[in-house]
Amino acid sequence: MKKFFAKFIPARRFMGLISNDIAIDLGTANTLVYVPHRGIVLNEPSVVAVKVNTNVVLAAGKKAKEMLGKTPESIIASRPIRDGVIANYELTESMLRYFIAQANNNRRSLIRPRMVIGVPSGITQVERRAVEDSAKEAGAREVYTMMEPMAAAIGAGLPVHEPTGSMIVDIGGGTTEVAVITLKNPVFCRSIRVGGDEMDSAIVNYVKRKYNLLIGDRTAEQIKIQIGTVLVEEEIQRMEVKGRDLITGVPKTITLTSIEVNESLLETVASIVEIIRIALENTPPELSSDLVDSGITMAGGGSLLRGLDKLISRETGLPVHIAPEPLLAVVYGVGKVLENLDFFREALM
Ligand code: ADP
Ligand code: MG
Repeated sequence: MKKFFAKFIPARRFMGLISNDIAIDLGTANTLVYVPHRGIVLNEPSVVAVKVNTNVVLAAGKKAKEMLGKTPESIIASRPIRDGVIANYELTESMLRYFIAQANNNRRSLIRPRMVIGVPSGITQVERRAVEDSAKEAGAREVYTMMEPMAAAIGAGLPVHEPTGSMIVDIGGGTTEVAVITLKNPVFCRSIRVGGDEMDSAIVNYVKRKYNLLIGDRTAEQIKIQIGTVLVEEEIQRMEVKGRDLITGVPKTITLTSIEVNESLLETVASIVEIIRIALENTPPELSSDLVDSGITMAGGGSLLRGLDKLISRETGLPVHIAPEPLLAVVYGVGKVLENLDFFREALM
């Protein structure tokens, strides 16, 4: 039978017809889906828009993100995963199901798929079960969850299976997760609810305090990405920012500098440096000495904040590398685990 098909259908298409195993990075900011032989098939913001009082999905991903803060009363656009925890089970399930269907081009495979899902390391048992149930509801035959920093380390190409220490710092939207890994197991793992979102709200608050100007979270995110920096010695950059004047109530434009953004981000960045320090203090000495050479690898969108790698290197005295594709590290990691389930079994939760 297999031979018969092989004559007419290339092997990878054939495998695709009978099985749709998928790997998912369920991030607080972005959800990505990886399918063996096809690569990343979906990369969308973790945002879902539903009709009020229902779970009928009107939009998910980019389209839903554009609606954030702009919906009429009949529609709710929200991020169901906040601060690394599931803030709303039903919405998470609706979103996951929508994305899985989209990744499968809305068709069901002959054999129900196996799924590997990366979840925040600070997730509770109950929350993890909720993710597993959602995936099963969405058609999974077997569901495996794994800690995001472990997935990020694997996706970044760190030698997690060897008896040597590897340190990963994954700065996402809702959380920063730090892990020191050896022989496929974390010897230290900690998650703090500080990440890109907190940077955005710090910018919102700064502009509010200094200029009496109210700006939205998405504007703050654009400021952070465009002129955000943690180093002051860089050339000063400027950006025009529009918002609502809190005193007159009318729209107003100001010019913000990178120095001001730097100032607003100090506290958030200090928390990130602090958690890295704690990780280093808790690393057994033999593994610490490995880190002197291998250094710290950063992943997640937050690692792209200008100068953060240099600052962390300066504060710890260790070399700091940013993963080749920091926003894709986790999904590549869960993908690799899915493709080598037996080898990575110990790395699963
Ligand atoms: P999660 O895993 O929580 O979904 P991601 O790893 O996808 O998060 O990262 C998303 C976060 O990274 C967002 O807060 C986003 O604003 C931030 N981000 C993306 N690009 C940059 C950049 N160039 N500079 C600073 N922050 C960035
Ligand atoms: Mg992530």
